[in-house]
Amino acid sequence: MEFDVVGFLAGQSLIVIAGLGIAFLLLVFNKARLKSKAPKCPKCGLTMVTRIASKGKHEGKPFWGCPNHLKNGCTGFRKK
Ligand SMILES: [Zn+2]
Repeated sequence: MEFDVVGFLAGQSLIVIAGLGIAFLLLVFNKARLKSKAPKCPKCGLTMVTRIASKGKHEGKPFWGCPNHLKNGCTGFRKK
């Protein structure tokens, strides 16, 4: 037996369908927002990752670090 999507949706109230639509849109927008939030490394262009300073006067504070830092020593960073 095939699942009847149209029949399923027709059986639901408009509010349920609208709710599902809004939930889906929020999910998509939230993902896009999270993705675009991270800046690019000014030196190599990779999407940066959150790191916590382990020394210096900013110790314990988050900043944007380059994911290439451990691989090839890229020193690109940005303040959060
Ligand atoms: Zn970099």
